[in-house]
Amino acid sequence: MKIFSSTIRLNSKNKQEEIRITDQVQAILAESEITEGTAFIFTGHTTTALHLNNTDSALEKDFHEFLNNLVPNNENYKHNKGEYGRNADAHLKSVLIGNAVTVPITRGRLALGQWQTIYFSEFDGPRARLVSVKITGK
Ligand code: ZN
Repeated sequence: MKIFSSTIRLNSKNKQEEIRITDQVQAILAESEITEGTAFIFTGHTTTALHLNNTDSALEKDFHEFLNNLVPNNENYKHNKGEYGRNADAHLKSVLIGNAVTVPITRGRLALGQWQTIYFSEFDGPRARLVSVKITGK
């Protein structure tokens, strides 16, 4: 079994943003020369998330609108009264969506569904971000 590790550097441009990273992950997979296994994609930032969704720019806007309605930022959050910034909403969205995705690898390709894209979600940009990719297989 082989293990191949790499990182993707991102620069978000907005406070909230969806960034498609499937092509970068596929490029790392090609570099790994692993053809059967799994790709584990992880963000170590607590105000970001990773998820799979339908490839659609309208849905990207719906996604953030949905989360903004679910988790409006306000002064009542204890985190927003502390010294760590007024971004409690971003942390809570990150927890809801999750910090990693795993994708199967088949015949050297990410075995995503026809409409699936790997999305990096920014909830507290703009910032420089790092995504870890670990490919495991043969
Ligand atoms: Zn914070």
